[in-house]
Amino acid sequence: MFLFRDSVHRPMRRVLGLTVTMLLLSGLTGCSRFEPEASLRLVPPAEFETWWSKTEQCSGLHASFQRVQWYVVPGDSFSCPGGRCVGHWEDNHTIYIAEDWLQNEMVVRHEMLHDLIGHPGHPDPPFGDGCPLTWATWGGDGASLRAGDAPPRID
Ligand SMILES: [Zn+2]
Repeated sequence: MFLFRDSVHRPMRRVLGLTVTMLLLSGLTGCSRFEPEASLRLVPPAEFETWWSKTEQCSGLHASFQRVQWYVVPGDSFSCPGGRCVGHWEDNHTIYIAEDWLQNEMVVRHEMLHDLIGHPGHPDPPFGDGCPLTWATWGGDGASLRAGDAPPRID
């Protein structure tokens, strides 16, 4: 009788132990990744592919547009590690854009350039000289926003 109980219960205990470990691990990795709560998966508009090509050209860096996962966050900004952002890039090829800024070429291409160079921070070149994709260097649509005290943050 004891032998029987043992053979049934011991494997079950091991399965439960594994499940708990897996939950703990997924909880930990979930915390380390930036992920605004209300973000929604975005099918990138055709215009984004044009912007990607332009960003490849100005930087001389090339990669598949398909590797980027796009998310839209409702509203005009979202909370990010640096405060409030209108755009944010993660090194797993994930880009978050606040809904109100989806049409802003500079904001979208700024995040694309992060994905092409593969790190945060804004070395010049390509940011600025080559690709004028910062508030300080952009002369296109929405350039007047740089005049504000604190232009919308793009990570
Ligand atoms: Zn940036």
